[in-house]
Amino acid sequence: MSGDLFSIRMHSNLEGAHISGCERLAPVDRVESLAAAMVRRALQHPKGQADCLSLTIEAVSPASVQTTSLLDLTTIRAADYHQGRRMAAELLQRAGVSALAVASAVGYMAAGAAPGGTSMRGAMLVDAVDGTRLEPDPSRGVRASRMDLSESAETELRQRLALRGLDNPHVREALVLATKVMSAPGIVAELCWSDDPDYTAGYVASREYGYVRFAHLKPHGEERGGRAFFVCRQEVELEPLIAYLERSVLLITEVGEIGGPVDWEDV
Ligand code: AMP
Repeated sequence: MSGDLFSIRMHSNLEGAHISGCERLAPVDRVESLAAAMVRRALQHPKGQADCLSLTIEAVSPASVQTTSLLDLTTIRAADYHQGRRMAAELLQRAGVSALAVASAVGYMAAGAAPGGTSMRGAMLVDAVDGTRLEPDPSRGVRASRMDLSESAETELRQRLALRGLDNPHVREALVLATKVMSAPGIVAELCWSDDPDYTAGYVASREYGYVRFAHLKPHGEERGGRAFFVCRQEVELEPLIAYLERSVLLITEVGEIGGPVDWEDV
């Protein structure tokens, strides 16, 4: 077996609308089983069985692979999504995002940030000072891609998450995604809540506070979800930032702390 990695990426549609997407980085001996699991996921998705799916498998040049450590995870107790959003907004401001930019991102995500009030396929890029949207395509957004845990880091993460009752694909995939986003030069913070109507949790990620999870950032049953990547425009040009998020290859080889639920006062 060679040590080279393959990028395996899947996205699926139903009647022209995006249903699911996922991706992994893995050595050649795991490619077949991971690809099969992605096909199964597209065909058994809770939103419906995909009628079109595409799978891309491509070798990545070993020289292009960068490595990093996973963000630390903390959960903050939130009684409901109103309280969760208030605390998330406060945390984003502590991380360096203006109140105006937070309000802008939350407003777009709550209303459905894609044209027509639906969820985008990727993330908004939001100016961290004035709240302007910067992504070239407001429907597709910007997709963080080509990142994963090494096999040993994944095993360790799953054990640590299981101790907190958090070992599920939502948390694992979001932690990996947020780690890649926070490794990008010029990104100040990220806000996310899911478009899965049964999954009300969301998070704020930043370099200083890590991945901070709130049990409720949206009401149960809500299908509009989204992501906002807050950008410091003085620090980065948009084109290289988007290229980094979408195309650079990042393998996470070390796992961070997985902290227990804490109250807001303890953050
Ligand atoms: P999810 O957590 O998978 O429910 O995704 C929530 C929202 O995040 C989606 O509605 C998209 O707007 C956005 N999103 C999903 N995957 C990505 C990605 N790879 N990069 C950027 N944004 C994404």
